[in-house]
Amino acid sequence: MPMTHLADIDRHLAALGALPEHRRRVLRHWLQAIPLDRGRKALEHYLPKPLRQALPALMTEWQHLATLHAREPSEDGAERLLLRLHDGQSVEAVLLPRGGLCISSQVGCAVGCGFCMTGTLGLIRQLGSAELLAQVATARTLRAVDKVVFMGMGEPAHNLDAVLEAIETLGVEGGIGHKNLVFSTVGDERVFERLGQGAVKPALALSLHTTQPALRETLLPRAPRLSPEWLMAQACDYARRTGYPLQVQWTLLEGVNDGDDEVERLVRLMRGQPAMLNLIPFNTVPGLPFRRPSWDACRDLARRLHARGILTKLRDSAGQDVEGGCGQLRARLQPVRLQRRGAEPDPGRPSATSA
Ligand code: SF4
Repeated sequence: MPMTHLADIDRHLAALGALPEHRRRVLRHWLQAIPLDRGRKALEHYLPKPLRQALPALMTEWQHLATLHAREPSEDGAERLLLRLHDGQSVEAVLLPRGGLCISSQVGCAVGCGFCMTGTLGLIRQLGSAELLAQVATARTLRAVDKVVFMGMGEPAHNLDAVLEAIETLGVEGGIGHKNLVFSTVGDERVFERLGQGAVKPALALSLHTTQPALRETLLPRAPRLSPEWLMAQACDYARRTGYPLQVQWTLLEGVNDGDDEVERLVRLMRGQPAMLNLIPFNTVPGLPFRRPSWDACRDLARRLHARGILTKLRDSAGQDVEGGCGQLRARLQPVRLQRRGAEPDPGRPSATSA
């Protein structure tokens, strides 16, 4: 059986005689793409012999947890990667400009956002914690990575144990600064309960997209029914505790969530809070019923929000438009027969709550 979870890897390493310090060293080599012949202490003087002998084959096996299948560069220096998993499924990761990497937390997604290609798939399967880490390890064979954002395919809150385990490991063995790990969510009570409990506390991104509860239920049909006010209060509280500003994600949809009413409510929600707004013009997806606002309209909106005291960034990048655009490369390249194989209800999906 492939070692898709960190617990599988740990069991295997322990059976080969690995002590905690050996495990740390082995994970560092894998996750930081450090060649086995490099390091402060040569491995032959450090690791138990059975582990040392098994290590090259183990590294190959872990690398195959997320094998590079296709690359699609964009003009701004970002590059979309299609990674093939052990069972023939695939996920996308995006190499972002300036050392960032966006990874997927699930194959497909149960939230079903109306503006997202991945949302049309439903949930196909969860990724194990080792499959999350393998995306970083594979990306680092291509380029240095010093920031990892969980904004690709899937809702991290629906695969919470695996995502938190991966965050902890990346922050301890993976060489990623804690504030450079970004947990992105549509908002979930369990996230706010658990995010601050671990030794590694990531930054938080909240996919808000609208201040109107009814519209949010339409745009994000299977997100927990939590009001924008409640979500912002919880997320800002976490931001205050960590000292990392909250990133509010807003996919701009022409005539849907780009009006004056949204500006007024956003100002009320965000002014004076430790938060910044990322405006992401919708990346047109064939078959989805939304339009991208004109660039001038997006710039005007950003300028008005800025003038009202909201730190606003307008992102015009195919590479960084990872939410609106995620799933497109997979949809083009993943054989259709695989797309729904193994589809099953999401065991991690929260029940709807009202706030
Ligand atoms: S935008 Fe994110 S949460 Fe919404 S369907 Fe797509 S992957 Fe899921």
